[in-house]
Amino acid sequence: MSAHIIDGKKLAESVRAEWKARAEKLIQSGTKPGLAVIIVGDNAASSLYVRNKVKACSEIGIYSEVHSFQQNASQAEVLDCIQALNSNPHIHGILVQLPLPAHFENNRVITSIAVEKDVDGFHLYNVGALVTGNTIFSPCTPFGVMVMLESNRIPIEGQHAVVIGRSNIVGKPMAFMLLEKGATVTICTSKTRNLAQFTRDADILVVATGKPRMVNAEMIKPGAAVIDVGINRLPDGKLCGDVDFDSVKEIAGYITPVPGGVGPMTITMLLCNTILAAERAQAGIFK
Ligand code: NDP
Repeated sequence: MSAHIIDGKKLAESVRAEWKARAEKLIQSGTKPGLAVIIVGDNAASSLYVRNKVKACSEIGIYSEVHSFQQNASQAEVLDCIQALNSNPHIHGILVQLPLPAHFENNRVITSIAVEKDVDGFHLYNVGALVTGNTIFSPCTPFGVMVMLESNRIPIEGQHAVVIGRSNIVGKPMAFMLLEKGATVTICTSKTRNLAQFTRDADILVVATGKPRMVNAEMIKPGAAVIDVGINRLPDGKLCGDVDFDSVKEIAGYITPVPGGVGPMTITMLLCNTILAAERAQAGIFK
């Protein structure tokens, strides 16, 4: 039997409609949610992501502003900009588009963002809060995956979840979020011996490696929920995930496509986190 395909685009639309209503309520009571995006350099992919974020903000009623710096900008200039945004009452969320140029210290920059405005959830304090079960902001990609699982009523508690990938933005927070919901979690990496031995036992398999179609049908437990985070550009210009969608969909119970799966959810969760930050600011939380 073919898997149920989780339509990330459709789910993103319904989540956005729900949060748009929350944004409207805030606006009516005098607080327009505001997001500031900082971009350094001229990486084409980063510029596209930033444009998409700005467009998504305007569609949901969030004010946004972009602070662009030249590739050779100094870290001090960027830190000054973040300091000003930290104390700007019209800005509720601040994100620094990664990657930063090599002469920047990522952690120094990210930890200069006020914790209550760190809508990407990458500040070391927010990472610690997530790991200890005191989440302030969930990082957007794993947050989107959790919404996909929960909205499809896919059981998490007591299930074996396998996450392939241990990056700070996807794999690690994903594993802790699943753990928090009661899953038994295994994290696999490029160093894992006999990867298939783990994936074949996964009730939930989240793949975030950046290796096109590396997970095939033989690696899947029948009926499993397979979430493909990967976005890879093939030589012919088409996009594909880290999962071989055509073969895996015949074995899995649920599967996310690429494109149209996790991608639309990631940006949606950024909007949600910004609205959440504005709600907290209005309520005086984090004063
Ligand atoms: P990273 O390159 O930071 O991490 C990749 C991880 O995959 C590493 O931990 C690496 O292991 C592991 N890995 C690589 N090859 C293998 C392998 N053969 N077997 C097992 N593990 C392997 O990537 P990101 O986490 O930043 O991104 C992963 C993918 O997700 C990319 O395609 C990216 O474009 C996509 N992405 C999609 C998003 C979305 O919104 N849909 C958002 C963010 C990312 P090791 O640590 O040992 O090197």
